[in-house]
Parts: sequence; C-alpha cells; structure tokens
Amino acid sequence: MRIAFGGIATESCTFSPWTTKLADFWVQRGEEMMVGDRHPFFAQHEATFLPTLNARALPGGSVETAVYHQLKTELLKHLAALGPVDGFYLDLHGAMNVVGMDDAEGDLATAVRAAVGPDCLISASMDLHGNISNRFVRALDMLTAYRTAPHVDYMETRAKAVAMLVNCLQNGTRPHILRLPVPVILPGERTSTEVEPGATVYAALQVSDSVPGLIDASIFVGYVWADELRASATIVVSGFDDAAMQAETQRLGQLYWQARHDFVFGVPAGSADQCLDWAVAAPNQPVFISDSGDNPTAGGVGDVPAFAERLLARDDIPSAVLASIADETAVSLCHTAGLNATVTLSLGGKLDPVHGRPLTVTGRVIHLSDDDPVAGKIAVVQVKTSNLILTQHRKPYHYIADFQALGIDPAAHKIVVVKIGYLVPDLKQAAAHAFLALTPGAVNQDIPSLTYHRIQRPIYPLDPDMEWEP
Ligand SMILES: [Zn+2]
Repeated sequence: MRIAFGGIATESCTFSPWTTKLADFWVQRGEEMMVGDRHPFFAQHEATFLPTLNARALPGGSVETAVYHQLKTELLKHLAALGPVDGFYLDLHGAMNVVGMDDAEGDLATAVRAAVGPDCLISASMDLHGNISNRFVRALDMLTAYRTAPHVDYMETRAKAVAMLVNCLQNGTRPHILRLPVPVILPGERTSTEVEPGATVYAALQVSDSVPGLIDASIFVGYVWADELRASATIVVSGFDDAAMQAETQRLGQLYWQARHDFVFGVPAGSADQCLDWAVAAPNQPVFISDSGDNPTAGGVGDVPAFAERLLARDDIPSAVLASIADETAVSLCHTAGLNATVTLSLGGKLDPVHGRPLTVTGRVIHLSDDDPVAGKIAVVQVKTSNLILTQHRKPYHYIADFQALGIDPAAHKIVVVKIGYLVPDLKQAAAHAFLALTPGAVNQDIPSLTYHRIQRPIYPLDPDMEWEP
C-alpha cells in the first residue's frame, strides 16, 4: 500500500494589508518530512508513506500568488516522481487565501486529484476554522477536522485521517462526502468548544460516531476574516450510506444554526480601557488580557500598538508585560543602543498601517536576544511600569516558556497583555483572571462592522434576522 502525503497550510486574513511570502513558510521537501514528530501514527500502519512537500505558515495575510504556485508546483513535482500511489493524505489548515484566487484548497485538492488519478483515495485533515467549497470536497474521498478549539486534538485528527484512508484501502471501500453549508460566520473566540454552546454542539459529534454508514462527521466554524464566496460554517460528513449521511448533516446543521445567538465570548470582553480597569481592580495576578484585534494566530499582523498606547497612557498600572509588537527597526535600534540604554522608538504600525499607527515611546532596554527561531532578534523595553516585548519577526506569545526565555515571569506581574483570542491551555492555566479586549486590527471581533463584498448573503450575523432551513 503506497500512500503519498503533503500539504500547504495557513489561515489567511483578507482584511490584512500584509501578505504572506515564501520566507513566512516553513517548508519540508521529500525525505525532510520523515524527520520530526508530525506523523508518529504512520508506524501503526502496514503502508509505505511517501513524502511530497509540507509547507506551513503562521496565520497572516493572503498568500502571494507566485508563492502559492511555486509551492504547489513543487508538491506536484515530488508527487509525480513517486509514480502511482494508492492513497494521498492531504494535510491542510483550510483557510488559505491566495491573492487573486478563489478557493485555494479547492485548487490544490483538484490538482492533486488530477495527478493521482480517479482511482486513488484522498483523505484530508483540517482545522475546524477552514472554509469548505463544493469543488474542494469533490476532489476528496474523505475528510476530518479538529473537534476542539483550542485545538488540543490536532494529533488525533491527523491520525484519524490516515487511519480512515488505510482502512478504506484495506477493505477496498470508497466513501464519499456530503457537505452542508450553514449560513453562519462567527469568530473562533465565540465558538470555543470549552464553553457553551460550543461544548454541546461539538459533543453531538459523539452521536455521529455511532451512526452506521458514517466514517466521520465534522463541524466547521469556518474562518470569518476571509471575504470569500466559500466563507461560512459547514457540516461535512464522510461515509457510505447516503440517507444516513443526509440525516446527520441536517441534524448537525440544525443544531449549529439554533445555537447561533448563544455563541458569546468565553470571558468578559470590553474596550482596552475597560479591560485595564477590570484588571487593576482584580484581586489576584497575573491578569491576562487578550489584545484580540491584532492576534497573529488568527491572521492579525501583530504590530498594531493600539493597546500599548492605552496601557502607557495610564498611571494606575502596578506592573505589566505586553507581548508583543513586531518591529524590526525598533528591535535593531535597541540592539545597537545596548542593554540598559535609554531609547526613543517609533513603535509598530508599519506592517499594518491600515489598523495601527506608530507609537512613540521612551524606555530602557532590559533584555536583548537574537536567536529565537520564530522571532529572530528580540528586545524588551521598560516604559513606565510596563515591559514591552519587541520582535524582529511576527511571533505569538502563547506559552509561558516563551516569556521565561526572556527572563520574564508572568506571575510576577499584575497584567499580561497578549496578542491572542481565547487563551490557549498553557496561558489559561497561568491566568488568575482573563479578559478579552476588543481592539483594532485585521481580525477585529466586531464582525458586523467589517466590510464584506464577496461573502454569500444572507449570512448570520451580517443579516441577523434571516431565516434558514437545512
Ligand atoms: Zn483554528
């Protein structure tokens, strides 16, 4: 049994002025893909797994057209060199947007299908924040997605996509996919599976697992910051029994639709100043505040200094850490000035001049490092009672260890501001309190305020009073 695998994965915000370039992708080609811990489950199967290309980028702006075509061409070249294969495992995120192209995953899956031929089985694994077109699922035979947000089941999901593929190849069976778009588009911050109604909606998938004739049922929240024709929630069911699959897509679609008004933020949400008021008044520390509008893991740019401006305007902050602002020029200036130097910086608002403007600050350089694999050079600057983390390249601060690497203990500060949406488990565990700041940026949480031109209408919440039947 010969199974090829690979993919191109990112999440692209079409409201971002910043584009994703080749240097933003982490690319593995051929045998390089067998190194590392991405596919420990391959060993469980009596199959030969044949690598093509795996390219992954941090969420960001749309992928530049030439970059996508280069990566796709390389993937297909590696695939062609393998000769005939029985199966293909497509390892995706599902919300990639390419400049000037509709439905990038549909394009990629269709190209892989054309290369492997009609008899090969293709299985895909995805993030539940993917946008799913009809063209995309037509190119596949089966599909599964995360059932948790935060995505703690990422490894299980990849393992399931491969197990489904191997089982079908062994049994000589060929499933098909049913897709039901649900006209709802909501941000991940309101659809976490750790709080209601997300927890109940996603728990309904356990019932799907025992329905005969199905091999997988998935609920896609979709990706809200993409002004695309395919952007919406989608129910996707893979299996063999069309009637059972129809019934299950309708049941899950109805459940998601009925819950649409109840999806709210999992923590109190307000303006930057409201969150700072709540944080100062909170009994314990550290208080984590999500600077959500500029969250790089949702596709925000990560250099909008709007929250920093509010933080530094106040005189009632006992101590704070702000992570982070990507600003190569400012970091370089700090490195030139040296440790303990006083620097005046024009901070941020350069990569995303649409949602931010540079903020002038004067402070003392308290940390310098230059070997972070994602951020490159880093500087920490103390301004008043706040420590600002500045990075050469965009980097999310989503692990306590990332702070500790800079000599910063979050627990030693009253307030920790992170460019993130809902807190990932590591930060949630560390937080005495958590608030979500509705800040400006490419991934602004005020969805009805976004200017959409291409998304299919009507859709909730842009058309709040619309009716729908699955
Ligand atoms: Zn996601």
